[in-house]
Amino acid sequence: MCPQGQESERWQATKRKTGQPMITTFAEKTCQQCPVRRECVKVETRPKLLTFQPQAQQDALHAARDALVDPDAQRRYQRRAGIEGTLSHGVRAFGLRHCRYRGVQKTSLQHVLTALAINVVRLCAWLDGDQPVRTRRSRFAPLRAA
Ligand code: SF4
Repeated sequence: MCPQGQESERWQATKRKTGQPMITTFAEKTCQQCPVRRECVKVETRPKLLTFQPQAQQDALHAARDALVDPDAQRRYQRRAGIEGTLSHGVRAFGLRHCRYRGVQKTSLQHVLTALAINVVRLCAWLDGDQPVRTRRSRFAPLRAA
């Protein structure tokens, strides 16, 4: 059920490019007449599409989120999020997954230089006044809070 109290029309087993396997849609007519459509759906002509994990993964996700109510767990997770963000930055922007050289010493040197480059880029961004990007929220979240 969506924040406007409408029930999804159908659940369709399919896969997106990312491999996410379940999508449910709301009725096209319902979404077109919805007063909060602009805040909810990106595409002008289509109804709302939602993607879910398989049941076991979705349950694990909810359990992990429930565990984060504890302040100690939140502190641990903040550190983890920083580390994962740094690794992701290295992989996406600096080719961290691809070793350009053979041998442990050269590979190690490449990793040190990559870490140095990440720090330089981050320092420049900080000096330019760039702010960290906030985690994206579902379009449903503010509608549900309203
Ligand atoms: S546009 Fe969003 S809030 Fe409105 S009916 Fe469709 S799913 Fe529900």
